[in-house]
Formats: sequence, structure tokens, C-alpha cells
Amino acid sequence: MSEFDLIRRYFTRATPGALLGVGDDAALLQASDGNVLAVSCDMLVSGTHFFADADPYLLGHKTLAVNLSDMAAMGAAPRWATLAIALPGADEAWLEKFSAGFFALAQQHGVELIGGDTTRGPLNLCVTIIGEVPAAQALRRSGAQIGDEIWVSGSLGDAALALAHLHGLTVLSVAEFDACAAALHQPQPRVALGKALRGIASSAIDISDGLLADLGHILDASQAGARLDFAALPVSPVMRGQVTGARASCPQISGQDARAPANNLLGKQCVLSGGDDYELCFTAPAMRHAEILKIGAGLELPLTPIGEIVAGRGCIVHDASGNPVKPESSGYDHFP
Ligand code: ADP
Ligand code: MG
Repeated sequence: MSEFDLIRRYFTRATPGALLGVGDDAALLQASDGNVLAVSCDMLVSGTHFFADADPYLLGHKTLAVNLSDMAAMGAAPRWATLAIALPGADEAWLEKFSAGFFALAQQHGVELIGGDTTRGPLNLCVTIIGEVPAAQALRRSGAQIGDEIWVSGSLGDAALALAHLHGLTVLSVAEFDACAAALHQPQPRVALGKALRGIASSAIDISDGLLADLGHILDASQAGARLDFAALPVSPVMRGQVTGARASCPQISGQDARAPANNLLGKQCVLSGGDDYELCFTAPAMRHAEILKIGAGLELPLTPIGEIVAGRGCIVHDASGNPVKPESSGYDHFP
């Protein structure tokens, strides 16, 4: 199969939302009136971001999901994507599944693949995503104000816990692993939440490197500090079981009743510093509290207040008795 057959067969779909899609030297795009373009790029490298033998369907999903998550964090509506892909060979069974996973999520979010690049090489996946947002409503990292509440969506640490199991750092039952592995392999980008938070959130970021690391970026950009209530951090029943020793037999992710103080080291590490959650962390004035809870209820997505923006710099996490809680590291860093 030639490079061009491969592109035609696996990566060419109708693109009614573009003036010109795959097949020319460049795609042509027109932003809708009143919107600016939000552009972001994320690369997934075999051995760093996923195992070489990862399920290709799930990998196709995740390749796009991590990029959609950046759109969510900006409050942008994703519209187009390009895909640069290096492949060790033209493995058709692999390509079939990879593109199916990619396009299934793309369709769900109304995203069109409008171009890319295809080369031979060690497996490497790089998506550029383009979305739209009214300029004044983009959710930047720099808008957090002292006194704002800090929120997170969903629950924290499951992806890191699944990874810890795969690395032999903990042992989960099959049911527990399956519940956590969904967060690791098939993250659901919070695009609808990002859009709903336009005009409400003062800042936002998606949690890809760990809560403390990513909230840290908001604090740096906003020149503020934070106090987090460790007991308020939302965790899944599996994570709660892991950290308290009382394992949930039938794990089901549900926010409000699933809070618990994680008291062992791995639990703390996963919840505070675990990467790959792709939940949103955002800040908003306290007067928006009820409105935000309503948004969460409408989206059937738990939204949990976890602390407050304060004067000064850095983030202090405290437990129920007011004692500081510290993880071993604050988050993933490719060049520590
Ligand atoms: P060029 O020689 O200009 O780099 P290519 O021959 O690499 O163009 O690609 C031909 C067309 O196919 C272009 O429109 C390009 O955007 C598109 N394309 C290449 N690889 C992919 C891919 N993996 N997914 C989607 N479109 C692709
Ligand atoms: Mg090319």
C-alpha cells in the first residue's frame, strides 16, 4: 500500500466544515463570526506516553482525547484537527483500529480531520487541534483572583493508579483495574464543561500532569497561591478503597459520596500528582457556586470545590486537622 493509498483509506473523511480538507498542500478554514481560533498541539510518543503494544483503537481515541482536553480547558469548541503520524510499517489491521478509535471520538465532538503528515519511523502521533471561542470568553490560566473557589471535575488519580498497577507498584483486582484503566486508556475530554464555563470560570487548565503541577500553572500565570482541602478531593470508590484499605467491590465512579482522605503514600501521589486524568481544574468567584453545581448536574459530571485562591505563591494542601499533606513529587516532568 502506498503512502497515498494509506492516507486515502484510513485518514480521509468528508469535511463539510472546512473550505478544503485532506488532499491539497494545505487545508482552508474559515472561523465563524465573532470567534477566534484556539490552536493546540500534543504529541504521543511510544514508550513515553503509551506502551508499544497498546490497543490501537484506544490509542486512536486517546491521541485525539488529549488534544480535545486542551480545547476544553480553553472553553473552545473543537472543530478541526491535523494528524502527523510516524509508523514503523503499514500494518492495515492496526491502522483500521487506530483510525476507528480516532474518528469515533472525532465524530462525537464534531471534529473534522483536515490534514496531516505520514512518514515511516518509530510510532509517534501528533495532533494539532483547532477550535473556536469568542475572544473575550476564552478560559485562560491567568484569570484566577484571590478568594476564588478552586474546582475539579470528575475524580482524581484513577489513571495513575491503573498505571501504578501496570508497573507493579500496587495490586488491583480485575474489576478495580478495569474501572481505573478506563481513565487511563479512554479519557473523556470535558469539552461540554469547558464551553459551559465560559463567562463563569476565571481560569482553567486540564489536568494532564497532575493536580498540583497543573494548578501550579494557574497560580504562576495568575500570580496567586492556593489552599487545598485534601479531604475534599474527589476520588473514585476504587481509589478510596485503595487508600483506606476498604476496597469497593463494585466500583462505580460517582462524585459526591466518593470523597475520602487518602492516607497512604501511593494514594496521595496518585490523587495530588497523578498524570493523565484529563479532568478540568478551574477557578470561579464564590458567588458562582450554585451555578457551577447546576452545570455539573446538567452534564451528569461531578464538580467539586476543593479549595481557595489566596494571596502569596504556591499551593498548601491540608488535611481535616489542618496538617500539611505533601506528595513525593508534584507531577510529571519530561525533563526533571
Ligand atoms: P505534502 O507533500 O504537501 O506534505 P503529503 O503528501 O504529505 O503532502 O499529504 C498529502 C495530503 O494528505 C495533504 O493534504 C495532507 O494534509 C494529507 N495527510 C497526510 N497525512 C495525513 C494523515 N495522517 N491524516 C490526515 N491527512 C493526512
Ligand atoms: Mg507531507
